[in-house]
Amino acid sequence: MNSIKEQLANVKATLPQECTLVAVSKTKPNEDIMEAYNTGHRHFGENKVQELTGKAEQLPKDIHWHMIGHLQRNKVKYIAPFVYLIHGVDTFKLLKEINKQAEKNDRIIDCLLQIHIASEETKFGLNEEELHHILESQELTTLKNIRITGLMGMATNTDEDSVVIEEFKKLKGLYDQMEKKSTHSNVKLSTLSMGMSGDYKLALEAGSNMVRIGSTIFGHRN
Ligand SMILES: *Cc1c(COP(=O)(O)O)cnc(C)c1O
Repeated sequence: MNSIKEQLANVKATLPQECTLVAVSKTKPNEDIMEAYNTGHRHFGENKVQELTGKAEQLPKDIHWHMIGHLQRNKVKYIAPFVYLIHGVDTFKLLKEINKQAEKNDRIIDCLLQIHIASEETKFGLNEEELHHILESQELTTLKNIRITGLMGMATNTDEDSVVIEEFKKLKGLYDQMEKKSTHSNVKLSTLSMGMSGDYKLALEAGSNMVRIGSTIFGHRN
């Protein structure tokens, strides 16, 4: 296999300029992250709070850490001091807890609302109705320490491109709708996070501007 450095460069060569690459380093050691870091890369994604906080402590402070996994409310406090973007917000209660912990840290934390677009039951996320419920709630205006900057979604794990494309298009449609609808001052859309190693090219075609890529860069996980 190619080195991490080479794989990272290969992936970057396939991305448009305006697309942010989150290098998903879950389960991989600090040396692997540093190999990518030393090329100038700064956006890394983790899906477990404990692993994320451990790595953030040990690694350079100018890394932008993305929390891409399912986040439990009682663990928000551990990442609130430093997290760059939380991708998986799927309840209003979680949003309120992030706001509370962000306030304690005197920060504003950027969040993406996770939408359930896949046919699998196991993937987390809001449905369309729940999304609009959050966006239209008056209480959202009181959350001064969070900012909703976009949406995140995971497509069904299938070889059928047409299924995946439809799901990504649905998410893009919701994102475009949201742009028109929301007038809350803490909703400032910039980010549509969709696409992983197996499907990111389809996601880009559907309008993604942030991809989360792990195994193609760092190799397979055990
Ligand atoms: C692990 C993970 C990824 C990266 O998956 P790869 O297939 O290794 O690219 C992307 N997004 C989420 C939410 C993940 O948990």
